[in-house]
Amino acid sequence: GAASPMFADQASGSIFNPWNGKPYSQNFHRILDQRKTLPVWQHKEEILDALRKNQVLVLVGETGSGKTTQIPQFVLEMMTMTVAETTPGDDKRRKKMMVGCTQPRRVAAMSVSQRVAEEMDVTLGEEVGYTIRFEDKSGPKTVLNYLTDGMLLREATADPLLRSYSAIILDEAHERTVATDILFGLLKRVLRSRPDLKLVVMSATLEAEKFQGYFGGKAPLIKVPGRLHDVEVLYTEESQRDYVESAIQTVVQVHMCEGPGDVLLFLTGEEEIEDACRNIAKEIGNLGGQVGPATIIPLYSTLPPALQQKVFEPAPGRTRKIVVSTNIAETSLTIDGIVYVVDPGFVKRKVYDPRVGAESLQVTPISKASAEQRKGRAGRTAPGKCYRLYTEKSFDKDLQSQTDPEIVRSNLGTTFLTMKKLGIDDLVHFDYMDPPAPKTLERALEMLYYLGAMDDEGNLTKLGRIMSEFPLDPQTAKALIVSPEFNCSNEILSICAMLSVPNCFVRPPKGEARRKAAADEARARFAHIEGDHLTLLNIYHAFKLNNEDPSWCHENFINYKAMKSADNVRQQLARIMSRCSLRMCSTEFGSRDYYVNIRKAILAGCFMQVAHLERSTGRYLTVRDNQAVHLHPSTCLDHNPQWVVYNECVVTSRSFIRTTTDIRGEWLVDIAPHFYEMENFPECEAKRVLKTLYKNRR
Ligand code: ADP
Ligand code: MG
Repeated sequence: GAASPMFADQASGSIFNPWNGKPYSQNFHRILDQRKTLPVWQHKEEILDALRKNQVLVLVGETGSGKTTQIPQFVLEMMTMTVAETTPGDDKRRKKMMVGCTQPRRVAAMSVSQRVAEEMDVTLGEEVGYTIRFEDKSGPKTVLNYLTDGMLLREATADPLLRSYSAIILDEAHERTVATDILFGLLKRVLRSRPDLKLVVMSATLEAEKFQGYFGGKAPLIKVPGRLHDVEVLYTEESQRDYVESAIQTVVQVHMCEGPGDVLLFLTGEEEIEDACRNIAKEIGNLGGQVGPATIIPLYSTLPPALQQKVFEPAPGRTRKIVVSTNIAETSLTIDGIVYVVDPGFVKRKVYDPRVGAESLQVTPISKASAEQRKGRAGRTAPGKCYRLYTEKSFDKDLQSQTDPEIVRSNLGTTFLTMKKLGIDDLVHFDYMDPPAPKTLERALEMLYYLGAMDDEGNLTKLGRIMSEFPLDPQTAKALIVSPEFNCSNEILSICAMLSVPNCFVRPPKGEARRKAAADEARARFAHIEGDHLTLLNIYHAFKLNNEDPSWCHENFINYKAMKSADNVRQQLARIMSRCSLRMCSTEFGSRDYYVNIRKAILAGCFMQVAHLERSTGRYLTVRDNQAVHLHPSTCLDHNPQWVVYNECVVTSRSFIRTTTDIRGEWLVDIAPHFYEMENFPECEAKRVLKTLYKNRR
């Protein structure tokens, strides 16, 4: 039948769920009562009314007010009713009314969709789904999908008018990721061709006025006040030398001296967080019976979903919960019950230097806006305290007011490839909310040109089109695409898959010397003398040879989950290869060329990421940009090759190149002569060596 469905707030009386026709569970009603107390529910009619009358709506709300979980449901409900009224009985109705909600972070997409599936009393992956790179948990029944902004951008390359959606919600717009920024420009265009499409832009901060301006001031702006309690801010007297140590001491102090309430500590990355969790546990353990126990929970993006979900559960035995998190907990995920926030003032961010062309992750000071968001996490359920591990003077004078949008600090190679595929011809004059620096634009175009993805006129080449089919960065995609020419596509495929998943090595904590030695020993068994890419290949092969056995992984300090996911990624990439008619082949394992071919193929994609060992100084300099870099301590190389190709550059206290493989200088002039053109080179030892190589070649 075509009866209008009934929805949450009317549904209290109904016993059937309109989404799947099943009776509501007890859980549904319990959660519904909770949901109704969220601030956005007070504004439901106002929001929907504004959206009925306007195509675009900007919504600002304090973190935790219910934007991400509730608004997409409201919009879905509204769109369903509209469609039901105009086309009763149309079976294609569902398809037309899909609501998509973007998230800058994969974790948020997964975690929130799971929550919303529970709220709607449906199964995740059916009516409510999520889509992130390499994982699509949506299906033909899906009416509400949470997807990363990058994935929506990809979808747009196949469906330029986004016809499968009736409404798009750009969530966390204040994060200003590159993908969200490009979506802004794209949607502005799509909205003109599709008057039926609705757009909601959601943000946690007041930058929202900028979004409003971007749409010509026509979009109404609705602010949902949070229900914040007072938060007392405490600064340190002096600046802290070691922010991790000082954070640990502060957390332990709070646990000892302060009343009930959970603690949230912001740190910058997985390793730092895992170490801090152990040290906090140890210090609290050392206090013995003086204090109560605490439950310490890490939170970062590469944590398996089941463990991520732990932060939302009450701590066992009503102990104090201490959450140690990356920036995910700043606005993406709301954890109820936090009363104390410890903010060292740092975040790991992507930093890009267009002069050098290197993109890296660096620990940098946060902005004032971030500091305020972090503080706000303490006052959600009761008055709270925020410990800032920096001085008040430093807050006033040193912190930027806002974080720069990512687009001004990124390498835009991948983005440009996608934009070209979207049919955006003029990348320079695109309607950017904040345009990237001219040098950045130039660098990205140059890179695509050198990779052969773009021709002299700036058009996408056939190779460029194939490259954009792969959810990989352009260099890696190129290595994969040319690998059949080097007779090693099976192997490069495995390496690409391994590079696309989190670190596969299990590192026992610093304190456990014996296990650490065993792990190092295991690792040495897989090490390939010529480099880390080949080591990754060895591990993948060993995993398959051992029938993907979890206990084999455990014994060898290999992360089973990472391996399973690499295997899955490999299958997905293999499907794309077959669609693009790329041949699967291998050089015979016994052949001397087996590894040589693999190394050459890697270089054929990553020839812009090469460093040369300067004999005079014993240092590595990146080729063409002459930046001093060091082999990352995790490398399996036991010698310093004259030339190395590397996968990425990480900057901490120094610049490290990570995942490096030994290559030969001759290959550079054979494989990428157009890039290793001598005129483009600054004077350096690498240039002199290359010159000789060129001469010998002729
Ligand atoms: P906003 O997007 O405005 O920051 P959310 O919609 O994310 O707010 O959160 C609203 C409420 O839903 C919060 O109280 C939060 O704790 C709760 N919530 C969100 N995700 C989960 C989850 N996975 N499990 C339990 N509660 C959740
Ligand atoms: Mg949110």
